[in-house]
Amino acid sequence: MFKQGLHDEVTWATELKGAIRSVSDLEKYLQIKIPKELHEVRFPILVTKYFASKMSKSLDDPLLKQVLKKTPFLKTDEELEEPLLENQYKLHDVILKKYAHRILCLTTSQCAIHCQYCFRQNHDYPLKSKLREFFKTPPTWWNQNEIKEVILSGGDPLTLTNSFIKEVLEGFAALSSAHTLRIHTRVPIVLPSRVTDEWLSLFDDKRWKLVMVVHANHPNELEGKLIKSTFKKLSQKFTLLNQSVLLKGINNQESTLKELSWKLHELGVMPYYLHQLDKVSGGAEYEVPETVGSKLVESMAAELPGYLVPRYVREIPGKKNKTPIFNG
Ligand code: SF4
Repeated sequence: MFKQGLHDEVTWATELKGAIRSVSDLEKYLQIKIPKELHEVRFPILVTKYFASKMSKSLDDPLLKQVLKKTPFLKTDEELEEPLLENQYKLHDVILKKYAHRILCLTTSQCAIHCQYCFRQNHDYPLKSKLREFFKTPPTWWNQNEIKEVILSGGDPLTLTNSFIKEVLEGFAALSSAHTLRIHTRVPIVLPSRVTDEWLSLFDDKRWKLVMVVHANHPNELEGKLIKSTFKKLSQKFTLLNQSVLLKGINNQESTLKELSWKLHELGVMPYYLHQLDKVSGGAEYEVPETVGSKLVESMAAELPGYLVPRYVREIPGKKNKTPIFNG
């Protein structure tokens, strides 16, 4: 069992280590010519070969466009390095508390993909040691029966080793009032080999109600047998939800969004949120006006069952809850 587990860990970790990390590597892998002006990037390129294998040989491919900007240095006056002003919610270097009864733990800065529109791309992340320090000397609010849900976010918590995830789970298990553990991750979509049996067994403890929020923006991300088997395994333990970002040239079409909802449903995942793009520095090329987004969601609502229509929302910096844009 241990040997098998070790083998599993080596496999996904090796795959992540061998990910594409430059525009020229992307060019070689996809066998396409990428214009010189796109080789200089602000947010370094990172994409697994698994995710890249789903791209076509076109600069307009909706998966490629998520990891390679067409206007790498376009910037508007409204954009911010930290668009959600998350620092004001810090209870600790690794813990944010924006909402009642919930805490969000920034577990790592590592991801398995760099989404060029990501609102946390400029975030200054603490290291593992900070999390260990946190568990060693819990703060005064710890165990005051207020926290009901712990959210593991990042970066991507599924890039952590099994042994460190175990430490994190043990650390939060001491928070007696919390009964729900939620994980925010893109890994099941971009590096599904990471969802090993050994990793899943870390969640055997019945103490937690388990929720996983994945992040798929386009139906092509959900193609293939491996995705199917991965979500089948995940659905045995987790309530599965998806959040997408509305992205120009990627999913800003009725047909794409509808197909995405149907594909998620086939995999046992509820379309949860469709986010308006946060005004992160350098993200302007992806922005879709809210009026256009509302029409798209209205058209989804007119055709799909209600449970397949995601909530179209935006974050307003400084406002605690998400603001609905389209209310059906
Ligand atoms: S995986 Fe998530 S945290 Fe990482 S770059 Fe993409 S959106 Fe941001």
